[in-house]
Amino acid sequence: MISGVSVSKGISFGKALILKNEKIIINKKNISINNINKEIKIFLVNRDKSISQIKKIININKNKLNQNKENIFNSHIMILEDCEFEKEIIYLIKNQLISADYATSKIIKKQIKILKKIKNDYLKERINDIIDIGDRLLKNILKINIIDLSYINDKVIIVSKELTPSETAQLNLKNVLGFITEFGSVTSHTSIMARSLELPAIVNIYNITNKIKNNDFIILDAINNNIYINPDKNIINLIKKKKNIYIKKIQELKKIKKYPAITIDGYKVSLFSNICNTKDINNISKYGSEGIGLYRTEFLFMNRNNLPNVKEQYKTYKYISKKIPKKKITIRIMDIGGDKNISYLNIPKEENPFLGWRAIRILMDFKKILYTQLKAILLSSDFKNIRIMFPMITFIEEIKYLKYELNNIIKILIIKKKKIDKKIKIGIMIETPSASLIIKDIIKEIDFLSIGTNDLTQYILAVDRGNKLVSHLYNPLLPSVIKSIKKIIYEAHKQNKYVSICGELASYEKVTLLLLGMGLDEFSMNSSYIPYIKNIIRKNKFKNATKISNLVLKQITLKKIEKCIFNK
Ligand code: PEP
Ligand code: MG
Repeated sequence: MISGVSVSKGISFGKALILKNEKIIINKKNISINNINKEIKIFLVNRDKSISQIKKIININKNKLNQNKENIFNSHIMILEDCEFEKEIIYLIKNQLISADYATSKIIKKQIKILKKIKNDYLKERINDIIDIGDRLLKNILKINIIDLSYINDKVIIVSKELTPSETAQLNLKNVLGFITEFGSVTSHTSIMARSLELPAIVNIYNITNKIKNNDFIILDAINNNIYINPDKNIINLIKKKKNIYIKKIQELKKIKKYPAITIDGYKVSLFSNICNTKDINNISKYGSEGIGLYRTEFLFMNRNNLPNVKEQYKTYKYISKKIPKKKITIRIMDIGGDKNISYLNIPKEENPFLGWRAIRILMDFKKILYTQLKAILLSSDFKNIRIMFPMITFIEEIKYLKYELNNIIKILIIKKKKIDKKIKIGIMIETPSASLIIKDIIKEIDFLSIGTNDLTQYILAVDRGNKLVSHLYNPLLPSVIKSIKKIIYEAHKQNKYVSICGELASYEKVTLLLLGMGLDEFSMNSSYIPYIKNIIRKNKFKNATKISNLVLKQITLKKIEKCIFNK
């Protein structure tokens, strides 16, 4: 048995699939004249293999691929079948006497270079297609195993050094039963995505990709944080029993979904959902959520080769708005950067990505993305159930600028007689120490605020939220973080503003009473955690929660704070 950090609840049984991201290494290889035909054949065979792999993906997933994805795959086939592409590679093999892989990589690089020089957005977006095709073709030539995450056909548990948030979002949930990684943390976006997909996951296990072999039978017990490799029958039966108990507990908890989140002594708070995509909407009624406290729209921009235009984004936002017309929907403007990347934006590699070009910092430089998103949100706002939230705010000028841009778009849409919410509510995430220090003044600029404790913790403590080496130092219960949260709530209430937390802290059962006692108005989390939090709220008195928070706020060490919370 091996233990790790459970980041998404659940228990799965399945075969291991090890993902090893083998690097494509191309060295210049000269060949003799006698080997020309052999190398040409290697290229042609693998070119055809690549085409049939893509065709297979399209066929297996007929009706499941959206039009955009299907178009991308078809364009890959067209490029691979292109006579010029074939001629150029064969020409190099013959005339420069180089191997198939080297010739292929040279032509791919040449095409990328040409596209980069063209001042045409559409053609620029084709660069990613060429990169994808080159990767597939070269991996086939070099006999590197290709695993298409969205098209895994066996029931498996993925074992990998790490997974990116966009890879996680692509997983084929019919067959992927969970994942185990060497890196990762509770607040990394890969873990957040796993919870959104309700996919059991354990992370932070040293060298796990060498301890498990492909096809080993695995039990992933992400309730008790354990992994079993080829366990005996007794263990299998024992964990099956535990899984049944867990399922029954959830069913029992779900029964309170129709009741409000109210304490025994009548203090009511709101429980909202964090969502990453439109599928998550179904969980709103399933788990008794009151609305959307955080829609992480950046996932809408991932796993594609170009920016979604106004129409595409409008369709998504409108779909959500229509699906829950009476509930509040908080759409957060795209928060890319940090551990979330979008290949087609070509974000340069940074030394400190979490301190770098992230969220509104990117959007204020790439105004087209900002306008497109704001316009799409406004066009879907006529039910008046949508609010806009800006992430990563550090100073007031940023809010003033964003409001100015938003108001300009509103004016244009009014002139065009579009049906929009002219008084759409504007809020921000409080997730930088800078914003928390000027909270009193910031609040005057906005309608609502939500504390992003995932980032606020990392920035207050100067601990990267995804870095395994310092993960033991990342703790939102440290006095500096707790006191900041209290100060934010206090100042907001003084100005009659309602406060939400949408960081992972809102879903920690052990701190629910502390947050309640500090006066938090809204807890926003992955929908499946709502029944657990509601259960605690309904079983306790606000009076006791206040006592706990008063006591905690007097403490100056983590040890004492944990004692107050855990040994109540
Ligand atoms: C946060 O920082 O707490 C938050 C909710 O935003 P994200 O996790 O997407 O950075
Ligand atoms: Mg954040």
